[in-house]
Amino acid sequence: MDRPVRVAVVGAGPAGIYAADILTRAAPAAQVDIFDRLPTPYGLIRYGVAPDHPRIKEIVTALHQVLDNPRIRFIGNVDYGVDVKPEELDPFYDATVIATGADRDRDLNIPGIGLPGSFGAADFVSWYDGHPDAPRDWPLTASRVAVIGAGNVAVDVARILAKTADELLETEIPDNVYQPLLTSPVTDVHVFSRRGPGQVRFTPQELRELDESPNVDVIVHPEGIEFDDASLATIRARRTVKMCVDILQNWAAREPRGRARRLHLHFLQAPVAILGSDRVTHLRTETQQLTGDGWVRGTGEFTDWDVQAVYRAIGYLGRPITDLPFDPATGTIPHTDGRVLDLDGDQIPGRYVTGWIKRGPVGLIGHTKKDANETISSLLADLRTLPSASYGDPADVLTYLSRRDLDYTTWAGWQRLDRHEIELGRPHGRKRVKVVPRDEMISISNTADAP
Ligand code: NAP
Repeated sequence: MDRPVRVAVVGAGPAGIYAADILTRAAPAAQVDIFDRLPTPYGLIRYGVAPDHPRIKEIVTALHQVLDNPRIRFIGNVDYGVDVKPEELDPFYDATVIATGADRDRDLNIPGIGLPGSFGAADFVSWYDGHPDAPRDWPLTASRVAVIGAGNVAVDVARILAKTADELLETEIPDNVYQPLLTSPVTDVHVFSRRGPGQVRFTPQELRELDESPNVDVIVHPEGIEFDDASLATIRARRTVKMCVDILQNWAAREPRGRARRLHLHFLQAPVAILGSDRVTHLRTETQQLTGDGWVRGTGEFTDWDVQAVYRAIGYLGRPITDLPFDPATGTIPHTDGRVLDLDGDQIPGRYVTGWIKRGPVGLIGHTKKDANETISSLLADLRTLPSASYGDPADVLTYLSRRDLDYTTWAGWQRLDRHEIELGRPHGRKRVKVVPRDEMISISNTADAP
């Protein structure tokens, strides 16, 4: 490539940061601005990974090194498509890569889903991770709770609900999360998988962690531990599924240990209704039977579970972006090899997509690197056909944002907020305590340190 290339990446989570890294390595003259609607970088790592998963949160160390590259700028607190329209930013860049992820709950269309006491996992995760746009208060008033889904988000939600507040006190949770957990009356958390143990989407390490709290008994109800031919084939073919099945069978065979809180795992129970007149009083499930192909059908046998709260953890969806095509069924932006396609299936010049908004919310964080490689290869292959950015000076876009009165944050600003949060944790022997209100985050980020 013989000319400088200027690229906007939208979304400062792992997908966007990996794309910026791959691009700046492949094209030594490339300059990248990473925009985010939040004042902070790291997306899902900061606001999706559970606080008691410090090992996964450590991925920020590598992402920090990428953002330290002087050819990459972080521009936070700017909501692409809302604060600035795509066409407003276009003149500053040769191309735009959308990496906005998937952060809202997939719908579950069963009667009673709108009752008070019925929650989406994504909203709960945002609350316990101190997301600035999540409500500050969460009604942790239920003693018996249902969690629907057999993926790692269901595991996260069930674990956070069942653990005691003091087990989480060493983490970065803010006070508005610690206090309700401290007074939570929860005794029983029931996790429901509509299929069998051979179809779980948990990963073994995450499943095993459920059993690590000294205050929680994990109880696997043996009724649903069944396998059809497809289940046996999956167990033979996939080591991680076999590991999960072994763990579940061990747990199903042991006696409860008499702990104060219990976390129950039920298989072959599909949710059919949430019951209650003015708030949740029960979850109704229908017992399922395996059909030989790994899927299930209802048996007509129903159970009403006495619970006061229901959390659905049945998968995430991406959000549409103004003026860009969007597939509402999958929550993704249509593309070929990362090139965004319009409604006729034609490529939209200069628009690319990567991460969960490209392939849907599946896979672990590392998998996004493969996506980013494909997308950046497409972008670089197209480069000669794209019109060059018309603004010459990289400072121009910042001037434009200031003129639009957008209170954007920067990489230096994040480093100030980062230090502030670490200082908040220090007197209590904690690694950090998160700042939650958006205006406070911006004010700390944008107030220069005294010389
Ligand atoms: P997921 O892995 O796709 O699991 C969704 C679960 O919801 C599945 O068990 C699915 O069952 C169930 N489900 C879907 N529709 C349902 C319905 N109508 N009724 C009942 N159950 C239904 O999604 P996720 O848990 O949101 O996780 C998203 C991604 O993030 C995954 O790749 C996950 O591994 C990753 N993640 C990783 C970690 C970690 O590494 N610690 C933590 C959180 C998330 P069926 O299989 O029957 O459809």
